[in-house]
Amino acid sequence: MGSGVAVRAQTRVTGVKVLPEPIGRPALARSDLDRAAHLRADPGLVPRLLSDPTTRVVSLAGDRAECGLGADGRAGLVLRAPVPEDSGRLTLFLGFDPAEGHPAGERAAYLAVVEEPGQDDARGWATLRRVGTMLGDRDAGLFTTAVALANWHATHTHCPRCGSATIPATSGWTRLCESGGSQHFPRTDPAVICSVIDDQDRILLAQGRGWPPGRMSILAGFVEPGEALEAAVVREIEEESGLVVGEVTYLGDQPWPFPASLMLGFTARVVGGELRLQEDEIESARWFTREEFAAAIDSGELLPSSSLSIAYRIIEHWYGRPFPTTDIPVR
Ligand SMILES: [Zn+2]
Repeated sequence: MGSGVAVRAQTRVTGVKVLPEPIGRPALARSDLDRAAHLRADPGLVPRLLSDPTTRVVSLAGDRAECGLGADGRAGLVLRAPVPEDSGRLTLFLGFDPAEGHPAGERAAYLAVVEEPGQDDARGWATLRRVGTMLGDRDAGLFTTAVALANWHATHTHCPRCGSATIPATSGWTRLCESGGSQHFPRTDPAVICSVIDDQDRILLAQGRGWPPGRMSILAGFVEPGEALEAAVVREIEEESGLVVGEVTYLGDQPWPFPASLMLGFTARVVGGELRLQEDEIESARWFTREEFAAAIDSGELLPSSSLSIAYRIIEHWYGRPFPTTDIPVR
């Protein structure tokens, strides 16, 4: 196979290729909300919206939002009017309905409010993992943004510089250190996920440690500080599988707020190395032809990725058409 170092030097020069929207818009990348970021610094914005009965509020509790079934039987967020209790809760300004020629004041405004429902709360709380593919574009965008931002608030209650408590500011888009006044911004952690294709056009699927039996997907990992995307793809795949890849091609991306990732999707071709699994992360891995992939799903031997995930879209890009998944039903 030659020297891995030499092969990787060659792939660096190639650079990442981009195809025009080869996987469309994944389930959590459908938001068309006007985030109106220029309004966030106004400290009167959230109080004004909380006193306006036309404001639409997304109720959050942990990683769940209040959801229900609409008249058409389709799952959606329950968008309620503000209530007086909201003024004491963490409130996040999500934005307005898309412009379509109307000024912001004439469009519906959306807030997310973090609640602590009691034991007897009978509302229809659901996680984004459970309902993400069933929501319409607007609700998928609202839920994804709200839970991503709320996750960050929940884990950044103290200043990384001095350890003092931080308080929400900028309509929920920053936190301020109460002691030093330093400003802290929400984090999004980039992760690469990549289909690995061999010279027979087979795809490599792997089972991660701790996954349910039969669950296999493509390889993924976080981008490290100081690292470009292509380098992260090449490194992750070599670390986890022993294979050296080239022709790294960008396919699409989607936010993945479980708790704070942005998944950047690629496909790549094997150019060297040999299959040698990173045993502390990968339980097993094997190559699939399209026929073997279809047969393994049919027999129940393979539980493919959820259609919520960008992994599904990347595998579908290789397979050539949709395939059955093991999504959990809405209720
Ligand atoms: Zn501080």
